[in-house]
Amino acid sequence: MLQAKQQLIDYWRERKFVTDSRLLAAFGQVAREQFIPPQEHELAYQDTPQPIGFGQTISQPTTIIFMLGLLQLKTSDKVLEIGAGSGYNAALMAQIAKQVYSAEIIPELAALAKANLEKAKIAEVRVVIGDGSLGYPEAAPYDKIVATAACPKIPEPWIEQLKEGGIIVAPVGDQASQRMIRGVKRQGRMRYQSFDYFTFVPLRGKYGFN
Ligand code: SAH
Repeated sequence: MLQAKQQLIDYWRERKFVTDSRLLAAFGQVAREQFIPPQEHELAYQDTPQPIGFGQTISQPTTIIFMLGLLQLKTSDKVLEIGAGSGYNAALMAQIAKQVYSAEIIPELAALAKANLEKAKIAEVRVVIGDGSLGYPEAAPYDKIVATAACPKIPEPWIEQLKEGGIIVAPVGDQASQRMIRGVKRQGRMRYQSFDYFTFVPLRGKYGFN
């Protein structure tokens, strides 16, 4: 299993797919097997998504690393994630950023994320239950906002809760396919860049798919 993990890291490094060595270190530090169901442990470092229950999935490692690369995390960042799921992505971000908030709309998954993060001894993440399409105003403003669920468009509250110069990374499109987008807030307005196509589980809630 550890060999498969190292192979992924080497692959990303050799292809220059990941240039931030802190991201590679973060992937090395967090045990993905602790965030997926026991019967899937063997598959922890296959580059595929894995089911985490309630019809939801943890994204494939390459997708997660790609998103985190776009997010350009810094130690001082306050980050909001929408879609805690298993807590794995939040665990990776917490290796770099010291304040991570992760919203989850399914209470059982929020409980799972909390339990997984506790087991992994990661204390920098606050999992909050609720509709993250509204952001999480209680801890705003954020340096970075990342969505791990497919968005019909970027919800207005996320833009409001983002600091000047802050970055949003999210898959945006219809339910079948989305483009990864990165938005930077300059003078109160977002400037977007689009990247590859992906398929994420849908964002629910007020600004999600219904
Ligand atoms: N980041 C997770 C994977 C998330 S899958 C991980 O690393 O495991 C997407 C998650 O988004 C699902 O758990 C789903 O329940 C959640 N979700 C969907 N709509 C949401 C919303 N409006 N607010 C918060 N979470 C939402």
